[in-house]
Amino acid sequence: MAQQHILISGAGIGGLTAALALAQNGAKVDVFEQAAELVEVGAGLQQGPNAMHVHAALGIDKDIEAVAFEPESIEFRDYQSGKSLLSTPLKNAHESRYGQKYLHVHRADLHNILLAAAQKAGVTVHLGRAIDSYEQQSDAVIAKSGEASFRGDILIGADGIKSKIRQQMLGPQDNHYTGHVAWRGIVPASKLPKGHIPPCANNWLGPKRHFVSYYIRGGEYINFVAIEEREDWTKESWSQKGDMSELRSAFTGWDSRVSGLLEACDACYLWGLFDHPPLSTWTDGRVALLGDAAHPMLPFMAQGASMAVEDGWVLAQSIAAHKDNLQKALKAYETARYGRATMIQKLSRDNAKLYHMNSSLQTFIRNAKFKIGTHVPAAAHSQLDKVFGVNVVKDFPKM
Ligand SMILES: Cc1cc2nc3c(=O)[nH]c(=O)nc-3n(C[C@H](O)[C@H](O)[C@H](O)COP(=O)(O)OP(=O)(O)OC[C@H]3O[C@@H](n4cnc5c(N)ncnc54)[C@H](O)[C@@H]3O)c2cc1C
Repeated sequence: MAQQHILISGAGIGGLTAALALAQNGAKVDVFEQAAELVEVGAGLQQGPNAMHVHAALGIDKDIEAVAFEPESIEFRDYQSGKSLLSTPLKNAHESRYGQKYLHVHRADLHNILLAAAQKAGVTVHLGRAIDSYEQQSDAVIAKSGEASFRGDILIGADGIKSKIRQQMLGPQDNHYTGHVAWRGIVPASKLPKGHIPPCANNWLGPKRHFVSYYIRGGEYINFVAIEEREDWTKESWSQKGDMSELRSAFTGWDSRVSGLLEACDACYLWGLFDHPPLSTWTDGRVALLGDAAHPMLPFMAQGASMAVEDGWVLAQSIAAHKDNLQKALKAYETARYGRATMIQKLSRDNAKLYHMNSSLQTFIRNAKFKIGTHVPAAAHSQLDKVFGVNVVKDFPKM
């Protein structure tokens, strides 16, 4: 059988994971990226054991571990006192329960590792090449970029939340502004007293806002994401330079570990957070969507990139399993992934309500449940297992 030729629009974490997995399965892969340069905005990413299973199967887990930080636990904290409301062990605990670690990485580090591995496996990455549309033929798909066109057996739309491929597949559909903005920033740990931020995945929960902070790059940097509910988002662009004084004032009166970190920070970015209701389909003939193009989600489960990583693996194995019927391969991928991605989208949305409670009665009930979660591990596991206990490498093994 002739070598399959796969076209991928988008060299984000999802597109590169798919490219690497496909190339390792013997396909010829061309990735088209609209940006002329691959520069990732400085930010952290949490990669749970579910994503680490895929990284391990692709042979890049040790490279990731070498630049990551392994947190002791996930801590949900009261926004003023900083007291832990819910504590879930991560270090050693996730490895022994789920077979892989829970790690914090710099997004640019993960991206660079994926890019290097994909290129080493033979993937060609075309920079400054946006894919605008596609055309189906009986024996091929054509990806169009301005005057240029590229012919392949399959086209994967891994072009993020504003996906052009999705727009053609399903018609123009607006992404929905979720009413949340996120400030993101990175601070050198050396600017703060040692241990200022506990070595955990820390989440301070307050009315209508929450604050996440953790170490990356072996503890050299502290990453933060500060979320605030805000009705208006009028800017054309979805991310922009943030105003540090506005950010500090939004978190005035919070635990001194939060305010101290913000005092030490010089610059941040501000994002409007958008999502999209579940799509009616992710496939059209020889074309499939993946990652944020298929299922954008709020970052309140820290699972968006991890879902894109899982998608990339499953898509590559579905294509290998149905070599002689590629449309069947794409449908099998959609069937395998749709329910899980939709469930995680919903959990992410539900967490917005859980984290930002404003009434003292609701907060009291939530905190009582958190207390049970801390002291009765089985209660916490019933929630965590459905997210972290899934191993797509085992469920969709390499042929
Ligand atoms: C505040 C915040 C915190 C987050 N934290 C986490 C976390 O801790 N853990 C986690 O797993 N996830 C997290 N996420 C989610 C995660 O960042 C995304 O889900 C993930 O990056 C999606 O990857 P992707 O490859 O699908 O899309 P993207 O990363 O958006 O990549 C799409 C790529 O396609 C390119 N592109 C776009 N249009 C075209 C075109 N027409 N032609 C060619 N190329 C094109 C883009 O330039 C880009 O390179 C967070 C998100 C936010 C906003």
